[in-house]
Amino acid sequence: MRGIRIRALHHGNLRTDYDVLVTAHPRYLLTRSDQSKPRIWCEVPSLTYIIEHPDGNVLFDASVHPNWEQEWLPDYKELAPWDDHTPEQVFEVALKRAGYGPEDIKYVFISHLHTDHAGNTRLFAGTDAKILIHEAEYKGVANLPQDQNFFLRCDYDVPGLKWTPLYGDQEILRDVYAISLPGHTWGTMGLMVHLEHSGTIILPSDAVYRKESYDLEHPSMISLDPEEWRRSLRKLKLLARNYDATIVPGHDHAVCHEGRSPIREEERLRLHPNLYE
Ligand SMILES: [Zn+2]
Repeated sequence: MRGIRIRALHHGNLRTDYDVLVTAHPRYLLTRSDQSKPRIWCEVPSLTYIIEHPDGNVLFDASVHPNWEQEWLPDYKELAPWDDHTPEQVFEVALKRAGYGPEDIKYVFISHLHTDHAGNTRLFAGTDAKILIHEAEYKGVANLPQDQNFFLRCDYDVPGLKWTPLYGDQEILRDVYAISLPGHTWGTMGLMVHLEHSGTIILPSDAVYRKESYDLEHPSMISLDPEEWRRSLRKLKLLARNYDATIVPGHDHAVCHEGRSPIREEERLRLHPNLYE
């Protein structure tokens, strides 16, 4: 649709063992004839998106909080530290540099409640922004007795946030749809946006970590339910085929396609990771 733009913000990189993201990838498994393959400490970009829409701005995810070193559980600071970012890439600073404050956002769409996606949701406490989350995700964390892996109370147990549950696939604004993609967590959701020039863009968040996760249908050890994750991936591929969509993975700069008329590579390089329109 005319008048919608997606701006991507890059908040530096977490780092982790590649095996955490694409677990037991055959390329890196040791074999009888090759036991010399390296392990890979890889960059994991933290990305958020502002969907600028004539009826209001939608923020997709909220990146890592600057107090991560104090807040994260020790094992997870070791597993996937956010130790590669500049002061300008900190979410609140990057949002401001893009021309926005928390009061300019109508909907904060939280794909799931892992702290590297929900870390700055607290900035929207006391604003009019509706915080969109799948009901199953909210119920999932509500049942945790304490902080657990990447789920931290300081991200969601915050007074003044207007949590608004979603129950499945639904239209948020014209040509902007929430898509239910459970498996990575209880209620992981993605966003599908129909654009005038770039066609259909799907932001699947961690339902697709990397291009290889999508192309090889290879799950991550972090996935709560690998079978459900696979079902969600099939759904995503069906959507991608039906809409000739471009899939922008949660933690990769490469993109995925199914359809016959994807964004051409040179156009992608011009637009991504900063802008789709
Ligand atoms: Zn995640």
